[in-house]
Amino acid sequence: MATVKDYFGSMVFDDRVMKAALSEKVYSSLRKTIDEGTELDIGVANAVAAAMRDWAVEKGATHYTHWFQPLTGITAEKHDSFISPSPDGGVIMEFSGKELIKGEPDASSFPSGGLRATFEARGYTAWDPTSYAFRKGKTLCIPTAFCSYGSHALDKKTPLLRSMEALNKQALRILRLFGNDTAKCVRSSVGPEQEYFLITQEMYDKRPDLRYTGRTLFGAKPSKGQEMDDHYFGAIKPAVEAYMADLNDELWKVGILAKTEHNEVAPAQHELAPIYTTTNIATDHNQLTMEIMRKVAARHGLVCLLHEKPFAGVNGSGKHNNWSISTDTGENLLSPGDTPYDNARFLLFLCAVIKAVDDYQDLLRIAVATAGNDHRLGANEAPPAVVSVFLGDELNAVLEAIEKDLPYESAEKTVMKLGVHVLPKFNRDTTDRNRTSPFAFTGNKFEFRMVGSADSIACTNIMLNSSVAESLKIYADRLEKAEDFETALHDMIKKTIKDHKRIIFNGNGYDDAWIKEATEKRGLMNLRTSPDAIPHLLDKKNVDMLTSHGVFSEEELRSRYEITLDNYCKTVVIEANTMVSMVKKQILPAVESYTADVANSAAAKKALVSDLKCGYESCLVGKLSDLTDAIAMHVGELEDALTELEKAEDVGTESAMIRDTLLPKMRDLRVVCDKAETMTAKKYWPFPVYDDLLFSVK
Ligand code: ADP
Ligand code: MG
Repeated sequence: MATVKDYFGSMVFDDRVMKAALSEKVYSSLRKTIDEGTELDIGVANAVAAAMRDWAVEKGATHYTHWFQPLTGITAEKHDSFISPSPDGGVIMEFSGKELIKGEPDASSFPSGGLRATFEARGYTAWDPTSYAFRKGKTLCIPTAFCSYGSHALDKKTPLLRSMEALNKQALRILRLFGNDTAKCVRSSVGPEQEYFLITQEMYDKRPDLRYTGRTLFGAKPSKGQEMDDHYFGAIKPAVEAYMADLNDELWKVGILAKTEHNEVAPAQHELAPIYTTTNIATDHNQLTMEIMRKVAARHGLVCLLHEKPFAGVNGSGKHNNWSISTDTGENLLSPGDTPYDNARFLLFLCAVIKAVDDYQDLLRIAVATAGNDHRLGANEAPPAVVSVFLGDELNAVLEAIEKDLPYESAEKTVMKLGVHVLPKFNRDTTDRNRTSPFAFTGNKFEFRMVGSADSIACTNIMLNSSVAESLKIYADRLEKAEDFETALHDMIKKTIKDHKRIIFNGNGYDDAWIKEATEKRGLMNLRTSPDAIPHLLDKKNVDMLTSHGVFSEEELRSRYEITLDNYCKTVVIEANTMVSMVKKQILPAVESYTADVANSAAAKKALVSDLKCGYESCLVGKLSDLTDAIAMHVGELEDALTELEKAEDVGTESAMIRDTLLPKMRDLRVVCDKAETMTAKKYWPFPVYDDLLFSVK
């Protein structure tokens, strides 16, 4: 039997394949491009393209595609076959270096937020050699960036790569100051933990809301939800186990290091975590993972729901972005060292992150701002919309000691001398876990927990990399000029702690008292909804920072502002329209026909029992017809609100109207419909209810 070792990466044109298929010269030249970002010459590109084609064709591929991540949040591909006519009437399989490096998909329908005039609508795609090409079915997929002819980024990969470069540049400056001359590059790594729900295809097909919006727009609380905490880490059901096994196989074949799987808190909720890898590869892999999760589910008669809040009243799904920075020589810069010197470097990088998160709280919030995620943040299941950093007791005590010039007492009660020249040595502490913190230090990495399950992790990591690059730049500018490096270093760490300690919070993030303290005493931002958050993308400090590191141009930021808000608006409008249609075509007729039947039995009963006052049936008819009126009224109001929206002249106004009027009206309508569900006999209700959906998989 083939073991995982045999087929892991079998669909990937990875280093093993490259080494075997390319000449030594071509391989080392390509390796240099991958590792150091040097330009690739066309001769090398031709050789790589030919090897890729041969490898793919031999495995049965007929097409290739430049696989990219437009701003729609999903991945896009346009397939071209390798065939080219030969003079003898047959075909040959062709794929040139030029075709590998650059593609021109007719991609004019992707959102550009005004960056492309229609006459130059055809953006181009450019190969990202740092992320391996892979085979999907009969297609060779080449990970690419997507830009306009004016070189504006139209995708999520381009700014991500730029942010990695910004971080690399500034982190190397710091490392050189610490006397490290060997590291050639510094990269961030990410391990994204992915949550999801599984329900049966049969149930899914009967719910227009799930089909059109990914979440249930109606549904009374199930008799049994997650109260008993019996699902989390519980035994995995056979159908789910079969799904996970199949999923792992598919992921391993495309080289994704799927590692951990378990049940999550809500019924029908599960989690998958891969082993961490370089950020842009982790991002590609996560996009691919989500796609494969859906595909494999379909094979099992299941549907994988990646929406952040498919069910009200039970936990939604997120994605924990575990992030660290390390050198190409394998040193994790967020790992406390064994010597005071290593610790000083660690503290500096730690401070850079603390400062970055405080200075750019809004950017981190914006990175996860979607209509779906708004249902989750701050709902006592995911971190609040207020960003803060959790460090754990020990690290906190170290920072406090530095700030106050006090001796630091470690767990072993050895007092460390803390003078101008000596920074404390302390122990690693990986035991602390605070699940309520949006941004928690977990030993040698930070875990950002605000990301929504359906989000691309690109946005989060663009903002993280860039804002940390900015802190490091400020540090490097000062330290490079310092006469006494150690004193300057100490002072800077101390100053960072003083200036930014407001962002550090080790308590319960779900507590209302914290939100009060955070906003009123500490002045932290509480950007509750996407329309509250997204406009801050264009705040001067954010534009200045992101443009100065070359991560975004001002035009690109404007376009992203437009696209993100537009996406928010469209998402909610589709939900509202779906609600209207479900109410009018399904819910009202169902309640009505049940009411009519009950009224008939009421009449029949009355005919038999002449002095009947208010029997069960007549009372129920009364209540149901009141509810029907209420539903009709609320659906009318929702329709009016939708009409009103058409008057909005820009996405800023429209999104604010949605937040203030449309969403509250949707909530009102849902309340009366859910009430009707609980009062209507099951056989009349037009679609499966929560009890059916959440326990559908056996
Ligand atoms: P949990 O958060 O559930 O306790 P772990 O901390 O073991 O789980 O790991 C969660 C994720 O963090 C995994 O994807 C893992 O590969 C990733 N991870 C572990 N170490 C690092 C690191 N140094 N940098 C980035 N991600 C990491
Ligand atoms: Mg975790």
